[in-house]
Amino acid sequence: MGKPVLLMKSGGEPGFREWRDLLADPLPHLEVRWWDDPAVPPDAVRYAAVWDPEPGRLARLPALRAVFGVAAGSDFITGDPEWPRHLPLVRLVAPETAQRMGEYVCWAALSLVKDARRMAIAQGRAVWDYFEAPGKAPDLTVGILGLGGLGQGCAGMLWALGFKVVGWSRTRKVVPGVESFIAVELPAFLARSQILVCLLPARLETADMLNAALFAKLPAGALLIQAGRGSQTVLPDVLAALDSGQLGGAVLDVFDPEPLPDGHPAWSHPKLTLTPHVGSLPTRAERAVELARNILAFERAEALPTLYDPVKGY
Ligand code: NDP
Repeated sequence: MGKPVLLMKSGGEPGFREWRDLLADPLPHLEVRWWDDPAVPPDAVRYAAVWDPEPGRLARLPALRAVFGVAAGSDFITGDPEWPRHLPLVRLVAPETAQRMGEYVCWAALSLVKDARRMAIAQGRAVWDYFEAPGKAPDLTVGILGLGGLGQGCAGMLWALGFKVVGWSRTRKVVPGVESFIAVELPAFLARSQILVCLLPARLETADMLNAALFAKLPAGALLIQAGRGSQTVLPDVLAALDSGQLGGAVLDVFDPEPLPDGHPAWSHPKLTLTPHVGSLPTRAERAVELARNILAFERAEALPTLYDPVKGY
């Protein structure tokens, strides 16, 4: 009998070859095979490491013991109505995931504070648009919606830049330099958030959360950074708030659908910077180290900090 199989679906077939080479050393007891390899008997598959599997495919692997994500969210697996809920699902959050997200959020916050969008537009028109930059970090409070692993990493880096930081989560957190607000304290949290950063998971409760009613509770002219999930953003409300001045600027990384459709007014809005879901994706080499660590920890029955919690739904 051959080795048990780790079935991979991430980055297409070229991506698979890189995964296989990267995982050969840390996981010598497993055979790493491509998701669409017709020669793999379904009952040989012990683990699946996947991004966006076709609905129903995981449910047809009878010997599967655990599902591993290849990115930080879980929605790209739990969106499958037949995903095997009885099995452990482990999200992939490498140390580099938080570092890269922290860099993205700090970049976005500083570019909003410096009005980098205005400068880029002026440069594109070859116009010397002199203006006095409006603010600086110590004058501003950043509110992080979702003070989890990534939110806490961002908080430390924003704080080091001089921003004051507040955070919002279901449960109270103790994070140095950060004032923690819990779910029912949302209005008080929003009233403090001159820059609002969203790092929430995609859930029923967070769907359409970034809407006109929420923006109205922010200080006038607040700045928005959305790096959570597109399903949380009511995009027409963002554009209307930018037009009215309730929002002074926005950096959005995630959309629903992705890519943002051609011709959408968000592409060209002068107060909106749009990035193509690049907030934080560690390299394949960085993720392979973490994936191997997760699989080995699972096999040793160790605690898995990024184990999906079916009660919380993230
Ligand atoms: P975590 O699970 O560690 O953190 C999620 C946080 O959100 C927790 O603090 C949780 O509160 C809070 N939360 C969840 N639901 C609610 C709610 N209904 N009300 C209040 N607080 C809530 O996740 P990560 O930090 O690892 O990742 C966060 C998200 O970032 C991912 O789910 C994904 O959507 C996004 N992401 C985006 C990327 C990009 O490239 N743009 C890359 C990676 C991730 P509590 O701690 O109390 O449970």
